[in-house]
Amino acid sequence: MTTLVDYPDVVARYEPTLGLEVHVELSTNTKMFCGCPTEFGAEPNTQVCPTCLGLPGSLPVVNRTAVESAIRIGLALNCSIAPWGRFARKNYFYPDMPKNFQTSQYDEPICVDGYMDVVLDDGAVVRVEIERAHMEEDTGKSLHVGGATGRIHGADYSLLDYNRAGVPLIEIVTRMIPDTGGRAPEVARAYVTQLRDLIKSLGVSDVRMDQGSMRCDVNLSLSPVGSGVLGTRSETKNVNSLRSVERAVRYEMSRQAGVLDGGGSVVQETRHFEEQSGTTRAGRIKETSEDYRYFPEPDLVPIAPSAEWVEELRATLPEKPWERRSRIQVSWGISDEELRDLVNAGALDLIEATVAAGAPAGEARSWWVAYLAQQANTQGVELDRLAITPAQVARVIELVAAGELNNKLARQVVDGVLAGEGEPDEVVEKRGLAVVSDDGPLIAAVDEALAAQPDVAEKIRSGKVQAAGAIVGAVMKATRGQADAKRVRELIIERCS
Ligand SMILES: [Zn+2]
Repeated sequence: MTTLVDYPDVVARYEPTLGLEVHVELSTNTKMFCGCPTEFGAEPNTQVCPTCLGLPGSLPVVNRTAVESAIRIGLALNCSIAPWGRFARKNYFYPDMPKNFQTSQYDEPICVDGYMDVVLDDGAVVRVEIERAHMEEDTGKSLHVGGATGRIHGADYSLLDYNRAGVPLIEIVTRMIPDTGGRAPEVARAYVTQLRDLIKSLGVSDVRMDQGSMRCDVNLSLSPVGSGVLGTRSETKNVNSLRSVERAVRYEMSRQAGVLDGGGSVVQETRHFEEQSGTTRAGRIKETSEDYRYFPEPDLVPIAPSAEWVEELRATLPEKPWERRSRIQVSWGISDEELRDLVNAGALDLIEATVAAGAPAGEARSWWVAYLAQQANTQGVELDRLAITPAQVARVIELVAAGELNNKLARQVVDGVLAGEGEPDEVVEKRGLAVVSDDGPLIAAVDEALAAQPDVAEKIRSGKVQAAGAIVGAVMKATRGQADAKRVRELIIERCS
């Protein structure tokens, strides 16, 4: 029976100590120690070879790009890069790990002693210290068939897919984050969010928590306020959304407080987060590192990045995502809330690229968050999956600014581009969408409309200029919306004076 203590009551009497371990799958073309492809979602067991299947006589070779990515992540996290370090074998049996050991790094990780300043919603900053970031390989996947839950209990049989076995992983481990003033769940979520954005900006992983390319383990313990004694921690595994990170921390705080209040002691164990209920359930009793009989990997040479190489990689680091956002916010003159909406809509990069292609920020924003967002919504795809590029949007904006398209025609041009009809100029050409700006045909249309509504024409002639609206409407209709309405109005006044 689990007793939960209300969150405000927990933080009044206990101090949480939080630690986060995040696994990031690198988006290299090939695996960590062999040349197998890493593409997500391929037919099971089609991306395997003797090395990642652990067959006798196979030998691993380190993926240089994976090492580069690890170093760049470490540098972005303000870590020191170890000038020399070995891989290690972490020995254990698991059906989805055919080698019987995981090649990892143990006491010689490639990145150590970094930090990230995490900004909370109200602007408060918490420095999260990074103990280490090390390289390792992923395991395969088990699929338990026949049970109701997809878990092994109650399953009729299990299937194994080794496509993921050997995919490069970086594990980023924080130091214990002490007293967060009752904000541990929020700190955890903000840290993982910021880490995800940082790694995404480096282009080394797609950091999709829903696809498992970024996974978070939450370590949490409680100690009575002021006791100064570190409590026993639980480790909640594979929490796979940002929201779940926050919920898992909150739930563990309430659960552990219930255990401690009842005079019990927290068991050091792994726990699994249940997405549906927002609770955790006990897994296995946590092994200690001695249990894994780590030893240096004899089949791989040590990794010894030269200072020059590290500096070359440091020079490739992009602007930090949060610094970039502040800069954009200032230059576009938008509020915190507007910025957050753009980020949440996945529009920031697209708008920035549209601006870089020559469009004014205001119009670029308005296209992406209004018409294009609607189209993405209708198609049921993310904004960046629409079949239009920022450069094409910028060209449409340019055509409108030049008076060659009005807004209505511009939307039709965008529709054409989305439908695969080519570049904006080609769509204008093929669909005959250009604004009629040549006065010749417009004058003819104006004269025709005036002749058709002589009473209105008379009113305009007698000075009731506001009556021109009806004629403008008639001309727009006659030209199928392709006339420049402003020019039409001018011509009407001219023809009636
Ligand atoms: Zn392989």
